[in-house]
Amino acid sequence: MTFRTIIEPFRIHSVEPLRMTTPGERRAALDAAGHNLFSLRAEDVLIDLLTDSGTGAMSRDQWAGIQRGDESYAGSPSWFRFLESVQDLFPFGHVIPTHQGRAAEKILFSVLGGPGRIVPNNTHFDTTRANVELTGATAVDLVIPEGRDPSSLHPFKGNMDLDALDALLTEHGAEEVPVVFVTITNNSGGGQPVSLENLHGVRAVCDRHGVSLFLDACRFAENAWFIREREPGQADRDVADIVREMASLADGMTMSAKKDPLGNIGGWLAMDDAELAERCRTILVITEGFPTYGGLAGRDLEALAQGLREAVQHDYLRYRIRSTAYLGDALLAAGIPVVQPIGGHAVYLDAGRLLAHLDPLEFPGQSLAAALYTEGGVRGCEIGSVMFGLQPDGSERPAAMELVRLAIPRRTYTQSHIDYVIEVCERVAAGAADLPGYRITSEPRPLRHFTATYEPIT
Ligand SMILES: *Cc1c(COP(=O)(O)O)cnc(C)c1O
Repeated sequence: MTFRTIIEPFRIHSVEPLRMTTPGERRAALDAAGHNLFSLRAEDVLIDLLTDSGTGAMSRDQWAGIQRGDESYAGSPSWFRFLESVQDLFPFGHVIPTHQGRAAEKILFSVLGGPGRIVPNNTHFDTTRANVELTGATAVDLVIPEGRDPSSLHPFKGNMDLDALDALLTEHGAEEVPVVFVTITNNSGGGQPVSLENLHGVRAVCDRHGVSLFLDACRFAENAWFIREREPGQADRDVADIVREMASLADGMTMSAKKDPLGNIGGWLAMDDAELAERCRTILVITEGFPTYGGLAGRDLEALAQGLREAVQHDYLRYRIRSTAYLGDALLAAGIPVVQPIGGHAVYLDAGRLLAHLDPLEFPGQSLAAALYTEGGVRGCEIGSVMFGLQPDGSERPAAMELVRLAIPRRTYTQSHIDYVIEVCERVAAGAADLPGYRITSEPRPLRHFTATYEPIT
């Protein structure tokens, strides 16, 4: 029998206080931050949905692992426990630990990228795109057309457009395309999953053209849960088993362990190709650390070894996906446009539709995110033309969608926190037609969204 109420599959063992603020205090804080939510002090935020990256709560058993952490420089037992956990799900021959996912990307693309090279992906995450472009290579997004339509109900909107991939590889070939990437789930495209069938299809296209396939696997467990729920014939499978099948289709992976592996820090790069691994390890030793710890402490490796085991537990994943859908379904019921179906780790508000009076280059996502903060102390993240509009040649082009992502940290907020977020969204949506556009007053590049400053257009 199923109940309406979502039971969090844990009870609380240690608490962190939240600090209440007034709308006046929040307006002043946002002014002082140049209207950039990344520049706020976190204590001035009530419900922090900026990211699900490294913000989850660790379990009792992860904290126990931290006590067991062995800080030997080389060959620590913590490293071997980490390696065993990673290879249990992703049996690649070479695992290279890094301090974050972007460090894994930086190392891999330093080896595989360069001017004239092209890297296709269903949708590049912002750091992935930046690391490709930093080498002079070109990043190309080839998600299926449904993946760019916020209201399409396709069950696997993260899927790669196989015809487009085949056409790109036919035109450019393995000489110019060093690797094909698939991001699971598709973070920048709404947290949407990729089906097993599509992964098999990408594998076949790559085989035809002799190009290797890597997974950007940050949300592998959520992706596997969606496969179990939505893909014909998968409903009785163990999630860990689905993950192993996804891994078996790829030649390697990058990972941010701050996502599904339930860590506060960490990442890795893994592959079967020994020669490629050797070249990556050479860079690792210069930039991150010795190959048995990368940029991590032994205690971090322990937390991840345990986090990986918890990430594929069905009770946890059922709660995780249902509680994200709870927020999305409530917003839809209130008539607020969100990307559908609801993704795994976040709900994406369609700021382009909600603030239809603004031009994309007046940054409707930035405007909506600022309003959610001043109204209720809720911090989300613009995923639109601020994040993706600035082109490598300095011109501006509107992003495919203008979204505000409300990312849900893992095991951190309760249903009553989320009920409050729903109320804040309803109030902001009621006044959305009066929200101002924004202009950027200073910006670094690339990744301008982290530190740009803005002013409202009056
Ligand atoms: C977070 C993320 C990354 C980068 O990882 P960091 O640990 O933040 O450096 C890469 N790809 C995707 C899909 C991500 O979500």
